[in-house]
Amino acid sequence: MKNEQISIIDLIIETHVGLERQGPGSSEMTIKALSFLDNHNLSRVADLGCGTGGQTMVLAQNITGIITGLDLFPDFITVFNDNAKKLNFQERVNGIVGSMENLPFQKEELDLIWSEGAIDNIGFEKGLTHWKDFLKKSGYVVVTCPSWFTDKRPAEIEKFWSDAGCKLDTIGHNISIMQKVGYIPVASFIIPEKCWTDNYFAPREVAEKALLEKYTGNPAVEEFIANQRREVQLYNRHKAYYGYVFYIGKKNGYPID
Ligand code: SAM
Repeated sequence: MKNEQISIIDLIIETHVGLERQGPGSSEMTIKALSFLDNHNLSRVADLGCGTGGQTMVLAQNITGIITGLDLFPDFITVFNDNAKKLNFQERVNGIVGSMENLPFQKEELDLIWSEGAIDNIGFEKGLTHWKDFLKKSGYVVVTCPSWFTDKRPAEIEKFWSDAGCKLDTIGHNISIMQKVGYIPVASFIIPEKCWTDNYFAPREVAEKALLEKYTGNPAVEEFIANQRREVQLYNRHKAYYGYVFYIGKKNGYPID
């Protein structure tokens, strides 16, 4: 498959579709985030940018409500629904293809919106603002988002994230945005390094090797893998400056303006 034309999106899907998670995270951190919610009567839940559903199945093990996973990529949703079936959750866990920018739910339908590693695709403020209408009064939003830990950081890592089309902000800034757009900030915490290294980069590296073998000599694939490896190198060099952060907010019942 040396000369096969393959897009970056297809390469992202092929590398990630067989992984338990498509971004940094862990079951322990999903459960920790869930522990900050004071109301476990969560009958309607959406997991936006759910991928193949690693964190969604953990949610399903810990809450009894109906969960809809939503993702842009049909391949991820196929695996998601297979996983739900394998775990016998198919009656109350369903994956659908859709965009988190245009949610297919009723206004005030949801008790909880969950989203690990995905809100940065549309922007923290835009996502929180759009999603709020779909939450019941006092509903919760729980997201992870890559965030800066310091006010200043090396130009090399700023450029990497900006070239990737991802706008990172500091934790303090994001909490203030959460409050500004109408949530009470409940908690935020940084997820540990092993959520990146052991749970994401290591399995992704195995998938990358398989891809390189399948597309031996294909320059587009080699460049894609080189970029992924650069991401790992930069993380190891600059992890003191950034990481994934959980942000937990409760919809504020009062109007804002
Ligand atoms: N939540 C999963 C996890 O933590 O393993 C997946 C995280 S992955 C970093 C980001 C996910 O967001 C991908 O599955 C991607 O397809 C999805 N995504 C990106 N843009 C999206 C959009 N506009 N609407 C819905 N899903 C989107």
